[in-house]
Amino acid sequence: MATRAKKPPAPAKCPDCDGKGETAETVRVGARKGRATDDRQAALCLTCLGTGQPPD
Ligand SMILES: [Zn+2]
Repeated sequence: MATRAKKPPAPAKCPDCDGKGETAETVRVGARKGRATDDRQAALCLTCLGTGQPPD
C-alpha cells in the first residue's frame, strides 16, 4: 500500500488580494453606467486591511 504524501499546508494568504495586501480596482466613471476606464488604482484590501493574511 502506497503511503499518500500529505500536501504541505498552503501559506495563509488573503483570498481577496492574494496576499498582496492591496487590490487593483478599476476606476469607474459615471453614476449610472459605471463605465470602466483603463485606469486602475491600488486600494488597500479591506478584507485583510493590508496585511495580506486572511482574517479569522
Ligand atoms: Zn487582502
